[in-house]
Amino acid sequence: MSKKATIGFSEEQAQLLEVATTFCRDKSPIEKVRSLLENERGYDDAIWTEMAELGWLAIAVPEEFGGIGLGVAEVVPVVEQMGRTMMAGPFVSTTLAAQAMLVGGTDEQKQKYLPDLCAGTKATLALSEPHGDWDLTHVECTAERLGDTLKLSGRKTFVENADTADLLLVSVSLEGAPALVVVERSVLPEGTLRREVVIDETRRSYQVTFDGVEVPASALLDPSKTTAALVHVDLCASLLLSAEMCGAAASCIDYTVDYLQTRKQFGKKIGSYQALKHPIVDAHVGYEQARSHLYCAAFNFTQQGEGEVATRIAKAQAGEALSYAADRAIQFHGGFGFTYDCDAQLYRRRSLWCENQFGDSAYQRAKLAELLL
Ligand SMILES: Cc1cc2nc3c(=O)[nH]c(=O)nc-3n(C[C@H](O)[C@H](O)[C@H](O)COP(=O)(O)OP(=O)(O)OC[C@H]3O[C@@H](n4cnc5c(N)ncnc54)[C@H](O)[C@@H]3O)c2cc1C
Repeated sequence: MSKKATIGFSEEQAQLLEVATTFCRDKSPIEKVRSLLENERGYDDAIWTEMAELGWLAIAVPEEFGGIGLGVAEVVPVVEQMGRTMMAGPFVSTTLAAQAMLVGGTDEQKQKYLPDLCAGTKATLALSEPHGDWDLTHVECTAERLGDTLKLSGRKTFVENADTADLLLVSVSLEGAPALVVVERSVLPEGTLRREVVIDETRRSYQVTFDGVEVPASALLDPSKTTAALVHVDLCASLLLSAEMCGAAASCIDYTVDYLQTRKQFGKKIGSYQALKHPIVDAHVGYEQARSHLYCAAFNFTQQGEGEVATRIAKAQAGEALSYAADRAIQFHGGFGFTYDCDAQLYRRRSLWCENQFGDSAYQRAKLAELLL
């Protein structure tokens, strides 16, 4: 990165952080998170409506398309607080779909879809495939032109909230090149969605089979912008996952410190033992580093090249910070840390999901090597 200032915090970020902190804490206490684990939808639709009314879905969309006209940097504090309270829902998937549309859509598509997405229409991304490659240009699903329609085939995995999303942004291979298609869920035949059993039970993830699904040719996003859209979505997703992981790490550390200062063993609070005290300090230092990288990445997000470097550092750091904090939380809760009843498992599951979406720490560092060396 260049030597100019590489970290900053906007007034809008500060305001959104304050509002989101209170909102998420009030709307998503741990009892609620646990009750939604059993719920098929996985989130509270009334809270979704409230978030739409607060304008959170419009934050990073230009005013001409019904948005507020800020950037993805301003979405970061909101997602950070959602991560902190493990609030479930299609906020990130909808935000990412809007960003894909913004960068890759035609003018007509942007006029048609973005105002609705700002107002609360739910959307998701169908980019992952069974081959498991994090390279989003490695696409095996196909689209074939048949007159005025596109006929899709192939399977997508980890399509979050596919059951309740109104729109799906799907990557396909069209005439040998990656392309993006917007699919309205209403055109998907019965039996297309299959719920996946995933490690993070706060999420709803689906496998979607597109074999034989036909959409009008107008559903194709601008082919000349596909690469830019995929790069943008990859980085946006990594940034927002970093925010979610930082929020979760803060909460996990607070939760564990609380226990270390409460539980007594051998006549002393267990937090007084160095074997527990020192690692929790390490977890806190890791979290502070990750959060600094997160806001540095948010600040640099739109800077060509620098945004990518900062974002990949943030994702690698946040992944390791949450993973370590969550792992220690289980150990420090002693004989019951591994059980379902202990909230420590929720953070560990969250860390395993978030780290492995859009590239784990080793993948991010390999990408950084290409950028920095
Ligand atoms: C909540 C909880 C539940 C557990 N449940 C189980 C279980 O079910 N089964 C199991 O096998 N294990 C269990 N363990 C783990 C087991 O208690 C630990 O493995 C064991 O206490 C570790 O001993 P240690 O000597 O490594 O460290 P410590 O327990 O930290 O003890 C080190 C010793 O050194 C002393 N000491 C520390 N710092 C200093 C210092 N600066 N100067 C002088 N003395 C010092 C301490 O007072 C202590 O006497 C549990 C641990 C916890 C916290």
